[in-house]
Amino acid sequence: MSSFLNDRLQKINSYTPGEQPQDKKYIKLNTNESPFPPSNGVIKAINEAEIKDLRLYCDPYCKKLKKAVADLYNVDTDNVFLSNGSDDILNFAFMAYGGNGSAFADITYGFYSVFAELYGIDTEIIPLKDDFSLDTERFCNQNKLVVIANPNAPTGMDIPLSDIERILESNKNNIVLIDEAYVDFGGTSCVELTKKYNNLLCVGTFSKSRSLAGARLGFAIADKELIKDLETIKYSTNPYNINRLTQIAGEYAIIDNDYYMDNCKKIIKNREYTVAELEKLGFSVLPSKANFVFAKSDKLSGKELYLKLKENGVLIRHFAKDRIKDYIRITIGSMDEMKVFISAIKSIFKEN
Ligand code: PMP
Repeated sequence: MSSFLNDRLQKINSYTPGEQPQDKKYIKLNTNESPFPPSNGVIKAINEAEIKDLRLYCDPYCKKLKKAVADLYNVDTDNVFLSNGSDDILNFAFMAYGGNGSAFADITYGFYSVFAELYGIDTEIIPLKDDFSLDTERFCNQNKLVVIANPNAPTGMDIPLSDIERILESNKNNIVLIDEAYVDFGGTSCVELTKKYNNLLCVGTFSKSRSLAGARLGFAIADKELIKDLETIKYSTNPYNINRLTQIAGEYAIIDNDYYMDNCKKIIKNREYTVAELEKLGFSVLPSKANFVFAKSDKLSGKELYLKLKENGVLIRHFAKDRIKDYIRITIGSMDEMKVFISAIKSIFKEN
């Protein structure tokens, strides 16, 4: 780090992405990607002609894709914002709405605290209850940017829309951001509530349920004035932040909606299998509505399990944070991958 970097950035605890090993082939259950490839429509649409067109700038307004997202969610195009992954939108939201501070849970998506630090935003960290459920009352009357992942990460637990509505009602003077990265795996979306609450910013992604993590495509749905705020930031930073191929991929990932929703059903089935097998092995598993489960065993610590699974060619995620250090987060992959994971756990337990 150079001495030229400004003081705040010298100290920042930047986000640590999950491992993306390029050397060896692992069963990769560590970053909540889809085990299924993009649909045939997406694969065919990224053709030679489109690749040749990469010499041209992309449509900064993303007109076609915006219309497709608006139709999918039954809102108008001016209620839709698109960006380079939902991390980009979270970044913009902290930049835009963090002026009076921010509030989020102690155990939640690790990027929220990074953005708060990046913009020097004071933060109230609200502990989840002992059972890792959200302490709804404490998110009411905050008068600062409220950020909630629903379902939450890394717990996978969701909260009912009635709780979100209570939080929205009591935070009329500030933005409530609901991060729905994992909602397609059994959660309930709050998109409809954006028609009733002009302080609600609902954020989603094509990275998980639509198999496009590597394409980088996120979206927000909200009152049109909030969308204008986000567009202002986009046109003040990088108007071309969704490249040509990603715009096309996104469009076809909506045209082929049935394929992706079917895949979500498969993931839910594989999740049920994984939970049942882990419980047979003595794990306690939090109730998940996401494409991952959060589990702990009395036999081995989270870190030991992570290391031993890695030796066995299976990558999962472990967080060193005190309150959750005994847990491991396992992405739900294909049934074959989950069977390999379970048999790896069985052989690790046999050895120890
Ligand atoms: N929100 C949550 C809760 C996540 O876990 C992730 C994935 N790391 C994101 C947002 C960001 O996803 P992306 O930028 O790929 O859309």
